[in-house]
Formats: sequence, C-alpha cells, structure tokens
Amino acid sequence: MNKLRERQDQYIFAEKIVNLGGRATLLEALLGINKRAASMLFKAIALQSSRGGLLPYDPNWIVKTPINCLHSSYFYSIFHNIEMGSPKEADKKILFVGAYAIYKTIFDSRIFPIERAWHVYLQITCGNYKFTQCTRCQCQYLTVKSYPVLYQNCPVCDVDIDSHKRRRWTQRRRMISPIKPSDAGTLLKRV
Ligand SMILES: [Zn+2]
Repeated sequence: MNKLRERQDQYIFAEKIVNLGGRATLLEALLGINKRAASMLFKAIALQSSRGGLLPYDPNWIVKTPINCLHSSYFYSIFHNIEMGSPKEADKKILFVGAYAIYKTIFDSRIFPIERAWHVYLQITCGNYKFTQCTRCQCQYLTVKSYPVLYQNCPVCDVDIDSHKRRRWTQRRRMISPIKPSDAGTLLKRV
C-alpha cells in the first residue's frame, strides 16, 4: 500500500472514531500514533482541540452497577458476533469501531462511551473478563474472572429497583424464586 493511500485510510478511520465520541487519546491508542500527531488529527477532523485526560482504567467498573454490566455485555455481544462472522486476519480495531457504531445506534452512549468500550475490550483481550451465562434467565453477561462466583451476579436476575427507579445489585441472590425468561425480557426493555 502506498503512503498516500495509507494516510487516507488512517484519516477515514480516525474520522469514524471522532464521530463516535473518541478523543485524541483514543486516536493515539487505536491508530498507534504519537500524542502530537493524534492531537493534530483530532483538530483537523473536529475543527477544535480534543479534551484532555486519561482513558478509563478501572477494571471493576463493569461490576459497580447492573447498568454498567448490562451495557458492557450488550457491547461485547455485538463485537463477538461481528468477530465470529469475520475472517481470522480481520483487523480487530476496525471490528471494534464497527461494533461500537452498531451499539451506538441502539443504546444510549452517554452510559457507555467509546473510550469505556475500548477499556472493556482490552480487559477481555487480556483475559480479565469472561462471558457467563445465567442459569435462570439464560442471558450472557460479562464478569471479572478473578471474582468469587458470589460476586459474578446476573444484571437481570440479581437486581432490585429502588424508589428512584435505579437498578441496584440485590443483597440476597434470588435462588428460591428464579426470574422467568419472559420477565427478564421485560426488565431489559426498561433499561
Ligand atoms: Zn439472569
């Protein structure tokens, strides 16, 4: 590939990332370019300087609330399906951006911005997270692999909704009265 074509492809890819909400720091990570080049590229695309700050780094974020767990799991399901349908040699970073673009057309990206999705993706690729299937509602969700089973709660079944309609992890697992799959579908629609 000649240099000009390479630069054009890089610009188009960067444009997609910026349009999905990525800052210069994400361009740096996804394009493998230095900080200065990423800032200049961001400015050329967005016509303004990028906000600063580090990328998300808290590996426990996905289990802090059921909503975090649900959105991480929704995103990873989309990525996983795309990956399964793509050739082995496909560029995973391009698949990642494609998966996030689909996620954003369906869900509220303020809860789960692209930079959070990138962090979740990195945690999965380095083996810190795993996909677990709930034996009660059959949904698949992400958990932190090193956590005891007791803390790998299902974001559909192990949840209470408080008086402010916020979804909280329930303190007691509902082993006596398992939630039915039909109820699980209703709960997911409320998110
Ligand atoms: Zn469940």
